[in-house]
Parts: sequence; structure tokens; C-alpha cells
Amino acid sequence: FCHHICMVDIVIVGSVALDSVKTPFGAVSDALGGAASYSAFAASFFSKPGIVGIVGSDFPREHLELFRSRNISTAGIKISNGKTFRWSGYYEYDMNQAHTTDTQLNAFENFSPSIPEDYKSAKNLFLANIDPSLQLSVLEQMTPSLVVADTMNYWIEKKKEQLLEVIKKSNVFLLNDSEARELFKTTNLISAGRKILALGPGAVIIKKGEHGALLLTDGKIFSLPGYPLENVRDPTGAGDSFAGAFIGYLSKSGFDENSVRKAVVYGSAVASFNVEDFSLNRLKKIAMNDIEARYKEFEAMVKF
Ligand code: AMP
Repeated sequence: FCHHICMVDIVIVGSVALDSVKTPFGAVSDALGGAASYSAFAASFFSKPGIVGIVGSDFPREHLELFRSRNISTAGIKISNGKTFRWSGYYEYDMNQAHTTDTQLNAFENFSPSIPEDYKSAKNLFLANIDPSLQLSVLEQMTPSLVVADTMNYWIEKKKEQLLEVIKKSNVFLLNDSEARELFKTTNLISAGRKILALGPGAVIIKKGEHGALLLTDGKIFSLPGYPLENVRDPTGAGDSFAGAFIGYLSKSGFDENSVRKAVVYGSAVASFNVEDFSLNRLKKIAMNDIEARYKEFEAMVKF
């Protein structure tokens, strides 16, 4: 029994990775990345996340220590004998578009998420971008009251049926604009969003990169512009840090329309910091008061 030590508020299932990324503003190789890393770090500003994922024996200990220093539980990160998942990509001047040059699944290849006993009573779950069959297997292992799920175009193309099942079982579904169009073969984001709501989620968020995010709930629409940043250095992890801060805020606030809108603003604020530097370098340097300041800037920006 270790209630207060081991309990987590949010379970986050997804990739923990070593990323090699090049943008017009610099490059990193084998830097800490992965959807679970970005989202857990972002969520840790608001509450206590625990990561469920897998790494290899080559994964630097300092990254696990970084998570623990942020009060992120690493009890659900399995350390396998193989190598850590690696993603390589680059961005050109249109930084909304990531170009993948290499994906090495390594340890991730045989990953089957197993939720630690201590995590099973968590009320909040973030299913980051992984195979929808694995997302479904997580949903069979726990009964959270809030399920937020993400995906990518690869799964829309390869596992649409399972992905639709995940959507049906989610409270909030996140996707970007091109994925929304692809999923329902439509040019119109509002109509794609409505089709997702019809499957069951109480809210759908369509991310439009630097152009902000669109939130659709029952009969209502909320649209937030992107934070007007001039120094975007690396967009990797924008969606994941958005999602982490989003569910982090909701884990403390409850799930009413107003809170979901505020969570979109917090998600956008944290994502805007994340893209100012490579890997988690920017998020490592900010504190809650920086996030609050950007939240207020958003508030001033949309007031009329
Ligand atoms: P984002 O920029 O928010 O879409 O997410 C970028 C992160 O996703 C990177 O840190 C990668 O390590 C991770 N990633 C890239 N491809 C995959 C994949 N196929 N499965 C899981 N994670 C991935």
C-alpha cells in the first residue's frame, strides 16, 4: 500500500523516444522525445501523471530522473533488453509539416501496454498516438472517468475500424486538420468534427498547427487562435504537449464546457512554449507562472 506516493492522477500511454530532428534553426540527435514524454511533462505542471511505455537498455537514466524530478511516475515504463524507439524527421520552412526520414520501432515493436495495479484507479487517461488496438487493450484494463485520445494519419489508413472503436470510447478526441479531413473524406472541418461527436465523445478538438485549435461540443464551437510566436525552432511535440496540459488542467477542474475551453487555452499556452526549443528543453525552463502569463495574453487577444 502506497496510496499517496504511488497513486497517479493521469495515466499516459504512448511512445518514449529518442528523436533526431532537423529544422531551419538547428538539429538534435537522439534527444528525449516521444508522445508520452511530451504529454507527461506538460501534464506535470497541473497534476501527477504516470507513463506507461517501453524503452530499451540504451535509454539514458538521466531522462528517467528528469521525469521523476517533475513528479512523473515512471513505474509504468518497462525497460527492455532491446533498443529504444527512434524517430528521425525534419521540417522545412513550412513548419506545420513534419517529414519523417526514419522510424525504428525497436522495443516498441512488441509493446503491449500493461497498466500497473497502482495506476488502475486513476480517473484520467490519455491515449497518445499508438496502434488503436493497443489503445483498446488499455481501455479494457481500467475504467477512468475521463478518456482523451489522439491518433495519426497512419492509423486512419491502416486501422480505421479499431480507431473508430477508440473514438466511441473517448470523452475527448484530438486530431489535426488533415487527419480530420482524411478520416471522413471531407474538406470541411466542422462537418468532420460533428461526425466525430456523433460517435460518442463529448468534445472533439481539431488542431490547426500555428493557426490554433477548434473545439466542438454539443451544439457549441470555440475557436482559439495560435499564440503569435516569432521564434518557433522545433514544432515536434506540439500536439502532445497540448494534450498533456489539456488533460492536466481537466484532471483538476471537472468536465464542463467552460473548463474544457480553459483547458484548450492551457494546452495552447504550453504547446507554444514547447516549440520555442528542441526536445523538452523549453518546458524544462518554465514554471506555472509563465504558463499563467501566456494564458492571460490569450485572454486579452480574443477579447472584443
Ligand atoms: P507530434 O509532433 O506532437 O505529432 O509528436 C512527435 C513525437 O511523436 C516525436 O517525439 C516522436 O518520437 C513521436 N512519434 C513519431 N512517430 C511515431 C509513431 N509511429 N508512433 C509513436 N510515436 C511516434
